[in-house]
Amino acid sequence: MALHGLTSQQAHTLLQQHGENCLPKPPKLSFFRLFVSQFKSAFIYVLLVAFVACLLLSQFINAIFIFAVLLLNALIGTVQEYSAQQAADSLSKMVPQLSRVIRDGHPITLDSTQLVPGDWVLLSNGDRIGADIRLESVNQFKVDESALTGESLPIAKTDQAFAGTLVTHGRAEGIVIATGEHTQIGQIAEMVHHGSDTKPPLMQRIERFTLIIALATLLIIALIFGLTLIRGADLSQIFLLGVALAVSAIPEGLPAAITVALAIGMKRMSKANVIVRKLVAVESLGSCTYIASDKTGTLTVNEMTIGHIWLLNGDKYHVAGTGLSPDGLVHKHGHGVPVSSAQAPELYQLGLTGILANEAHLAFDQDAVHADGDGVDLAFLTLGYKLNLPMDATALPPQEQLFAYESENQFSASINQIDKQQVVSVKGAVEKLLPMCVLNEEQKAQIHQETHWMAQHGYRVLALASGSLNHPDCPFQHLTFLGLVAMSDPLREDAIAAVGLCQKAKIKVAMITGDHPITALALSQQLKLVGEHDDVVTGDQLSQAQQQGVAEFDKLVAAHRVFARVQPKQKMEITQSLIRQGEFVAMTGDGVNDAPALKHAHVGIAMGLKGTDVARESAELVLTDDNFSSIVKGIIEGRIVYNNIRKVIYLLISTGAAELLLFILSVLFALPIPLFPLQILWLNLVTNGVQDVALAFEPGEGHEIEQPPRKPSEPIFDRLMLERVLMSALWMGMVAFGLFALALNMGATEEAARNLTLMLMVLFENVHALNSRSERNSLLAMPWLSNPLLLLGIVIAQSIHIGASYIPGLNSTLGISPISLTHWLMLLATALTLFVVDELHKRHWRQQHVTESTADRQQE
Ligand code: ADP
Ligand code: MG
Repeated sequence: MALHGLTSQQAHTLLQQHGENCLPKPPKLSFFRLFVSQFKSAFIYVLLVAFVACLLLSQFINAIFIFAVLLLNALIGTVQEYSAQQAADSLSKMVPQLSRVIRDGHPITLDSTQLVPGDWVLLSNGDRIGADIRLESVNQFKVDESALTGESLPIAKTDQAFAGTLVTHGRAEGIVIATGEHTQIGQIAEMVHHGSDTKPPLMQRIERFTLIIALATLLIIALIFGLTLIRGADLSQIFLLGVALAVSAIPEGLPAAITVALAIGMKRMSKANVIVRKLVAVESLGSCTYIASDKTGTLTVNEMTIGHIWLLNGDKYHVAGTGLSPDGLVHKHGHGVPVSSAQAPELYQLGLTGILANEAHLAFDQDAVHADGDGVDLAFLTLGYKLNLPMDATALPPQEQLFAYESENQFSASINQIDKQQVVSVKGAVEKLLPMCVLNEEQKAQIHQETHWMAQHGYRVLALASGSLNHPDCPFQHLTFLGLVAMSDPLREDAIAAVGLCQKAKIKVAMITGDHPITALALSQQLKLVGEHDDVVTGDQLSQAQQQGVAEFDKLVAAHRVFARVQPKQKMEITQSLIRQGEFVAMTGDGVNDAPALKHAHVGIAMGLKGTDVARESAELVLTDDNFSSIVKGIIEGRIVYNNIRKVIYLLISTGAAELLLFILSVLFALPIPLFPLQILWLNLVTNGVQDVALAFEPGEGHEIEQPPRKPSEPIFDRLMLERVLMSALWMGMVAFGLFALALNMGATEEAARNLTLMLMVLFENVHALNSRSERNSLLAMPWLSNPLLLLGIVIAQSIHIGASYIPGLNSTLGISPISLTHWLMLLATALTLFVVDELHKRHWRQQHVTESTADRQQE
C-alpha cells in the first residue's frame, strides 16, 4: 500500500490544476423568487381583488393601504424564509462527503472535494464514490449505479467505478481518473438535482388547519356581512370590512412563523451536534417515545483496547496500556515479567493472526500517529506493537485473499503465504469460530466459561483461529482454535446521565448491538438502561419468535430493552414492530445495512464520524459526535420547537377570534362598526408584525424534559389550547365591545369611541403576546429578558401606534387622535386584566395537572 498514492505536495499542485472536486450547485431560490412566491396564496388574492376594487371605486387611500399591507407581509415573509433557508443551507454543508485515499504513504480520510486525478482511493461498502475511478484491485466489489443509470440492482465492478454511485458490497482500490464536472455524473449534473418537493406532514397539517380556520372565519364574516347589509350599510364599505376582517382573523402568517420556529430549532440542534437534514425532523425528534441506539461508539467511546488474553492451553495474559499507544507490556497472569516469543509461541501466534486478518492501518512517525480503520482491527494492531511483532506491510507474509469484515458475518479472515504454505487466519465472534475449529467437548466448555467471564465484565470478546488451507473452496474448517481476547470499550461519560434523562422524560431507550448478549447486558446494567434482573434477547430468539407470528415477535420486542447479536436486517424488523405497537421511534445506525431501518424509523439518526455515506443519506438527522447524549439534547430542542409553534398558534388564533367577536357583538347589538377596515389592517400590521414570529425564538422553559412525550396523533387544538383560546378571545372581544358601547353610551362620538377601542385592542394584543410566552407557567416566574425580540416588538408597536396619532395626515387617514395619559393608563389597566385572566387559568391548569400526575403515580 505504501508504494501507492500521491504526496501531499503533488496533490496540492494537482488540486490547483484541476480545481476542487465539485459539481455545479443546483440553482438556489433567489430572494426575488421567494418574494414572488409569497403572493401565491389565496389570502393574498383576496387582498389583490380588494386592492383592484378600491382602485375602481376611487378609494385611493384604502388602496394604498392595502397595497402597503401586501408589500409588508410579503417582505416580512421573504426575509424570514430567506434567512431560514440560508441557515439550512449552511448546516447541510456540515455533513461532508468523505473519501479515503493514500497520501504520503498513509491512508487518510478527506473531504471528497479535495480529490485529485491520480489519487489512490480505498473503497468499502457504504461509500458514495467521490470521483471517477479506474479500479486496480477488487474484492467482492459491488456498486449501486442508480444515481447514474437508474438501475438500482447492485452490479459487480472490476474496471471502473463512477462518481456518485454507491458501494453496496466489498472493497476496492483504484486511481482517480476524473473529478468535478469531468466525471460521468458531472456531464449529466443537471439531471441529478432531483429535489423532492413534497411538503412534510407537519406543514401539511398546519396548512389544513389554517384552511379550516380560514373557512370558519369566512363563514363568520359572511354572517357579519349579511347582517350589516340588512341594516343597509354602504356595499363597498362592507366589502372592504369583510376583506379587512379576513386579513386580520385568518392566520396567514402561520406557515412562515412555523418555518422560522423549525429553522431556529435546527440551529440550536446543530449546537448540540445534531445536524438536521430535513427541516421537519426537528419537530419529529421532539415527539419520540422510543430511542433504539447502537452500542459501539454511541453509548461507548469506540476506543477498543485489548486488556486480557486467554489461550486454549489455559494461560492467561494481562495487557497494559490504553488506546492506540504502543506502550504497555504483556504479562503472564500472576508473573511480573514480560513475556517473549520463545516463552509463549501460542501467544505470538494469536497476535500474528490478529494482525493478518486485519484491514486497519497504524503507524507511528516521530510525532504523528497514523491510524485508519475499524476500532477492533486497530486494537489488534496495537497488540502487535506491544508484542513487538513485525508490523511493516513488507515484513508480513504476502496476502493472497482477504475476507473483509461484514457485520452480518461477524468475522474477518485472511489467507497468507507463510513458509510456502497457505495459512488461514480468522478473528471474530466466538460462536462463529467454534464450528470452524477442531475442538473436544471439554475445550468447548472451557471456551464458553472464559467467554462468559469476559463478557460479564463488559468486555467485547473475540476469538482467534488459524490453520493451513486444505480446501480452497471452503477455507474455514479444521482450524486450530488459538484463544480469546477481551477488549474494553469504556462507556461515554455522559451516557449514563443521558439515559437517566430519557427515563425522566418517559422515553424508552433500547440498545441494539451485534455484540455478545452478556457483554451487552453488562454494559446496559452499568448504564442503568435495565435493572439487575432484566434480560437480553438475541437475534436468534427474535427470528424464532418471528416464525411463530407477528404477535409473538411484538411481545418479545416489547418486553426487552437489550437486543444482542442482532443482524442488521433485524433492526428494521424491530423498528417496524415498535411502530406497530404505537411507538414513535428514533433509530440510530451507521452501516449500509442499517439504511432500511433508518428509513423506516420515524426519525433515522446516522453517525457522522463512523457512519457510512449511505446511512447518512438515509437518515433525517446526523450526529456529528456519534454521542448518545446529543440525541437527548436534540429531543429537548425538538420539544421546545413544538411548544413554540403552539405559542405562535395561540397568539394568532385567539387575537383573530377576539376581533371577530368584537364585530359580531357590535352587529348583534345594532351598534356602528367598531373599527374601520383601515383600522383593522393597521391593527394587524402593528400587532402581528413581529410578535408572532418573535415567539418562535422563545428559549426552553426548563420543564421540557419532564413532560411525557406527546402522542404523535395529538391534535394541536387539544383541551388546553381550546380552553385558552376560548377564554382569552371571549375576554378580549367582550371587554373591547364593552368599552366601545360604554363610550358611545357616555356620549362620545363614533370616531372617539373607535379611537379608544383601537388603542385597547393594540394594548390587548401586546399583553397577549406576553401571555403566549408560556402555556402553563406564570409569566412572573419567567426571566424577563430571555426573549428580547418580543419585548422590542411590543415597545416598537406601541410607539408606532402612539406616534401615528400625532402625525398629521396619517392620523386623519387612520381616524385616530392622541389620547390623554390618564386615558391611556386606564386602557392599559383594562388590557392588563387579560393578563390576570390568563394567569388564573394557568394556575388552575397547573393545579389540576399536579393532581392528575400524582394520581398517575399512585396508579403505577
Ligand atoms: P456493534 O453493534 O456493537 O457495533 P458489531 O456489529 O460491530 O457490534 O460487532 C458484532 C460482533 O462482530 C462483535 O461482537 C465481534 O465478535 C465481531 N466483530 C466486530 N468487529 C470485528 C472485526 N473488525 N473483525 C472481526 N470481528 C469483528
Ligand atoms: Mg460495529
